[in-house]
Amino acid sequence: MSFEPKYLMLPGPTEVPHDVRMAGARPMINHRGADFTDLLSTITKGLQEMFQTCQEVYTLTASGTGAMEAAIVNTLSPGDTVLSCSMGVFGDRFADIAKRYGAQVESLETPRGRAVDPAALATRLAQDKDHRISALLLTHNETSTAVENSLEALSKARGSHPALMLVDAVSSLGATDLRMDAWGLDAVATASQKALMTPPGLAFVALSERGWAAAERAAMPRYYFDLRLAKKFLAKGQTPFTPALPQCWSLAAALARIFQEGREPMIARHRRHAAATRAAVKALGLSLFADEAVASSTVTAVRLPAGLDGKALRAALAEQYGVVLAGGQGPLEKEIFRIGHLGAVSEGHILATIGALEMTLLSMGVDVTPGTGIAAAQKIYLLSPQPVRT
Ligand SMILES: *Cc1c(COP(=O)(O)O)cnc(C)c1O
Repeated sequence: MSFEPKYLMLPGPTEVPHDVRMAGARPMINHRGADFTDLLSTITKGLQEMFQTCQEVYTLTASGTGAMEAAIVNTLSPGDTVLSCSMGVFGDRFADIAKRYGAQVESLETPRGRAVDPAALATRLAQDKDHRISALLLTHNETSTAVENSLEALSKARGSHPALMLVDAVSSLGATDLRMDAWGLDAVATASQKALMTPPGLAFVALSERGWAAAERAAMPRYYFDLRLAKKFLAKGQTPFTPALPQCWSLAAALARIFQEGREPMIARHRRHAAATRAAVKALGLSLFADEAVASSTVTAVRLPAGLDGKALRAALAEQYGVVLAGGQGPLEKEIFRIGHLGAVSEGHILATIGALEMTLLSMGVDVTPGTGIAAAQKIYLLSPQPVRT
């Protein structure tokens, strides 16, 4: 028996609410006409509010990696030295893109499960007296380890060093506070299919003033992701190439939902779900992979109990309960599983997920007491009740 709908508890793609899905099911329009200009203006304004920037935000037809590539190729030149502050798989990807386009990549090592240490970054930058480091590659929320950086602290650690801060905010933007202008971030990249609860297919990127100055000098090759072209077209209310119209309509509907909830309540909701999930996991006697002081608001990584096959666990959860969880990535493939709790996630999603997890662990011979995880999550929810809409 296969269940519909499933509880898609992945750190992307996330569940897309019915109205957001239906918003995309419309006849196509002329992307060089007035209706598209209105749509693009609506989503651009909404995204600026999400990025907390007065810079323009460019909508690209790509997944999140495309926006990361755009951040790099528009600000750097082959031979530039960049400091990769990777915390996991996605940080490594950011560094790989830079390397592929000819950057010299140095690394600031961070143990897996920890956040980048602002003091370590400050020390490394203080050693760079002749300012050879052109950019810092940062992941706001490292989805593979479920760790969230403090961009504010890292921005302070950069201080007056001229290195650009290029930020992968794919699994944080829309769920976590991100103040592009206030924190002096020079490029921010994100995508539609995570906290923005929109189908995959759109990626978004914005550059600061310093980022734009760098774009004028940058010599890395670029065509599809040339933001100078995107800027020229946005001035006319268009994109350089055919946009993914259904996703644009869906995004407009998703942004309307987000603004109806409000940015602050939305951030608080993600924090509650993360706290409830972590409390439940610990109450079941399982251990968290990430240092709890820097645990992500959007995804929780759980160590697999000794001897338990993560793939079998996730298959049983999906088959019997319709609960879809993510496995570990890269070196963590056999060590952890991950629960995504971002986007259109309610308390019901979390309680169902924990209940199903308890039943499945029990059926696979793990010594858990059913109900203890749920009780721990309920306790978090009861401590900080969600305002009831009247
Ligand atoms: C999902 C994700 C990406 C982008 O992945 P795509 O599959 O290209 O959308 C990048 N960085 C992080 C941190 C992510 O979670």
